[in-house]
Formats: sequence, C-alpha cells, structure tokens
Amino acid sequence: MRRRNVKNADQRIKDASLNVITEGKEHKGSWSKLFGNNNPIHLEIGMGKGDFIIEHAKTNPNVNYIGLEKFPSVLIQAADKLSDTHLNNLYLLLVDAATLDEIFEKHEIDKIYLNFSDPWPKARHAKRRLTSSNFLKNYEQILKQDGLIEFKTDNRPLFEYSIVSMNNYGMEFLELSFDLHNRNVDEYIIKTEYEKKFMAKGNPIYFIQTKFKK
Ligand code: SAM
Repeated sequence: MRRRNVKNADQRIKDASLNVITEGKEHKGSWSKLFGNNNPIHLEIGMGKGDFIIEHAKTNPNVNYIGLEKFPSVLIQAADKLSDTHLNNLYLLLVDAATLDEIFEKHEIDKIYLNFSDPWPKARHAKRRLTSSNFLKNYEQILKQDGLIEFKTDNRPLFEYSIVSMNNYGMEFLELSFDLHNRNVDEYIIKTEYEKKFMAKGNPIYFIQTKFKK
C-alpha cells in the first residue's frame, strides 16, 4: 500500500478515541472482558484505512471486531473515520501481525479476515506473505476450533501461492472463487478500499474460505 506521510500520526493515535490500542499484550486472554461481552471476535489483519471493518462493526452489533494494522500513518486514517461514531464493538490495534501470539490467547479469535494482503512478489520475501506457513501457525493457535479464515485478493500469484501454502499446511477449503462478485449467490459483500479500486478497474476478486483441520 502506498503510504502517505501523515503528520504527527503517532501523537494523534495517542490522542485518538479509546477505540485505538497501541500494544495489545495487556489484553491477551481478556479481549472479551474489554468488549464487555462474550460475542464472537473477528480480526482483520492488515486493515488499511478501515472501510471493511467499520462497515462490518456497524452492520453486526453482536460481533466484536478488531482491525489490526502495523503503520500509524495508515491506522490514523481508519481512526479518523471513527471520530464521530462511537462503536463499542470495534477496536483498532496498532501492531505487527508477526506478534499475534503475544497478543491473543489460544482460541481467542473466531474468524480472521485477510484482505488484499501485500503480495511480496520476490521469492526471497515469501516468508513475509500473510499466508506463509509461519503466519498460518499463529492463526491456528489463536483461532477457535472450526474458526474460519477468509482471504480476498486481486493478485493471481498471491492467490495461487496461498492455496498451495494452505493446502501444504493441511487446511480444509470451504470455498474457492476466481470471481467473488460474479458468483450466483445473492449476498451483500462488504468491500475494502482496495477491493473497490480493483473492481472499478474490472479486475476479478479471488476468494478463499478455509479452516484448520482438527
Ligand atoms: N485490507 C486493506 C484493503 O483491502 O483495502 C488494505 C490492503 S493493503 C495492500 C495491505 C495492508 O496490510 C497495509 O495497510 C499494510 O500496512 C498492512 N500490513 C502488511 N503487513 C502487515 C503486518 N505484518 N501486520 C499488520 N499489518 C500489515
């Protein structure tokens, strides 16, 4: 993602609403307590500017959402969108996904969204892809049994890499689509910023729904 330089992003995040969490480790094992209920917790990794997670939180008040993003200059743009709405089922979390196991207890998360993850096209950077086995290992740990991962991308090589990586990991595929928005399914799909941009260009959106085998 091209990151514009946002002046004083770190300070503005500190000053932002209570919905922004800059560490997360202090809530390990007690995220439900923070939300104040036992509703399921859905986590978007690499949230970007937040359209997807904010619309989900507004649409589904009985689900708790966490939008995770590693760059303050990006996260602040999602936080700004929240400034005039107080959603008590959404937190924005400023951390690197590489530290997930330090932030969430085993089986604390019900669903993970990976939307338009950075493709890292060079082979030597494959380990940085959010669907590489080292990340899958962390997802397996924090997800509940039967917890789902939903992955969307416009990037064909990343889509193919992710299928192979998940398959090698022994995951079970519940759905694979080469054109998510042209399936014969009557359902409203909440879109991300990237998704809107690529759809406007006429690109197909690839989709995977998967879970870890027991
Ligand atoms: N999901 C958004 C969308 O679909 O519009 C943003 C997509 S953008 C290509 C990928 C985002 O993932 C960027 O905002 C980037 O900073 C974030 N990201 C990449 N690697 C990450 C990591 N290891 N931990 C947290 N966020 C990460």
